[in-house]
Amino acid sequence: MENTIVWFRQDLRLEDNEALIEATRNADQTLMLYVFDERSTRIGPPRLHFLTESVLALRKQLRALGTELIVRAGKPEEVIYALAVETKSRWVYCNRERTHDEVYVQDRVEQKLWTIGRELRYSRGKMLYHTADLPFPVTHCPDTFAHFKKEVEHVVPVREPLPVPDSIPPSPPDIDPGEIPELSHLTFSATRKRITCFEGGEAAGHKALTGDALLCEKAPMMEEGRILSPWISMGCLSPKRVYHSFDTDSESGIRIHQNLIMRDFLRLMGKKYGDRIFYRAGISGRPLEIKKDMQAFESWKNGTTPVPLLNAAMHQLNGTGWIPDVLRKILAGYLIKVLQLDWRLGASHFEYALVDYDPCSNWVSWMNHAGVGPDSREDRTLHYDQLWKKIDPEETYTQFWLAQIQSV
Ligand SMILES: Cc1cc2nc3c(=O)[nH]c(=O)nc-3n(C[C@H](O)[C@H](O)[C@H](O)COP(=O)(O)OP(=O)(O)OC[C@H]3O[C@@H](n4cnc5c(N)ncnc54)[C@H](O)[C@@H]3O)c2cc1C
Repeated sequence: MENTIVWFRQDLRLEDNEALIEATRNADQTLMLYVFDERSTRIGPPRLHFLTESVLALRKQLRALGTELIVRAGKPEEVIYALAVETKSRWVYCNRERTHDEVYVQDRVEQKLWTIGRELRYSRGKMLYHTADLPFPVTHCPDTFAHFKKEVEHVVPVREPLPVPDSIPPSPPDIDPGEIPELSHLTFSATRKRITCFEGGEAAGHKALTGDALLCEKAPMMEEGRILSPWISMGCLSPKRVYHSFDTDSESGIRIHQNLIMRDFLRLMGKKYGDRIFYRAGISGRPLEIKKDMQAFESWKNGTTPVPLLNAAMHQLNGTGWIPDVLRKILAGYLIKVLQLDWRLGASHFEYALVDYDPCSNWVSWMNHAGVGPDSREDRTLHYDQLWKKIDPEETYTQFWLAQIQSV
């Protein structure tokens, strides 16, 4: 009898899930598992809420297919080891991650499984392109987006997403399904988020794709089109599915394709440069002059700077977990250029606050803005008053979010 385990991570979906397909292909029994890692402390309330909804939604989908999602809280290496022994599973399948903390966990799992002669099998699924389809090895990936885009767009085909499996082997019997842990059981210092904007899960992600998702009620988001990043980052939506849902005869389709290619580029930078994406001197190695003014950082983080638009943006971010790209750039520019602080302080706050946090998209974008990344723009001083007038001429956005600050 062949038993396997699928360890779901940032791939909380059934469609285009290579680990799921491979694990279930020839198995007699497959255990589906999600582990809330008790060491994950850098996850703020909006993302934690979105994550738990996404896990619950996956459980519902699996139950509809006649199986169960086992949920545990603890250290994945200990939980998976114990379940592999209990269910006599030979293989554990998961999506491979490439950044420091995520690699740390998967290495621990792998080492623990080796002690009992079991193996971790890695699958792909985070990117639009398969690295094997690229016209260069990862180590030779171009360092500028413009160059990367030229080499891949219209040259490398985006594969069709893998289908949802028709059937899934049964779960091993007598395994306690487990409940979503109470937040207080984890080390998260999370409270309920204040404004509900995004519903977790694959079905909600598909609604977002068709423009039917309920976003923040009455809250101006300063975003005209669909917002997809929370579902893409949590793995509820496959980037390939998003890509193939839009064609290039509309402006929004072209923009979404470009942005998905940008996302792949940032991930490839993470793969190519490893831990250097977290260093203050970044990939360039150029030493940065910084101030150590923690009071200035606190005012940035809490939205109490002298610039109303920045404060409004920070309050939207802290309250909902999401802000549009232009405001991410403005907040980053202010912290780096005006306050002259270590860019990693800003990146860490975004990591905690963003509902769509993705290690490479976040850290490589910040590093580029700090001028030490692979594709850093020229130094630019932002004129906040002019920008404010341009992007929020009626001040609807700013007034709305500043009023939220006052009401807390
Ligand atoms: C400092 C900074 C930090 C950021 N951190 C993150 C992060 O942690 N996670 C994240 O998903 N995005 C991050 N971004 C990128 C971008 O702001 C968001 O992806 C975008 O706002 C999502 O909006 P959307 O879903 O409407 O995008 P769309 O325009 O609909 O694009 C489709 C998808 O492409 C991806 N995408 C879009 N723009 C970018 C971009 N510039 N870089 C990488 N991927 C992109 C997203 O997955 C997005 O959902 C960051 C940008 C900056 C400047």
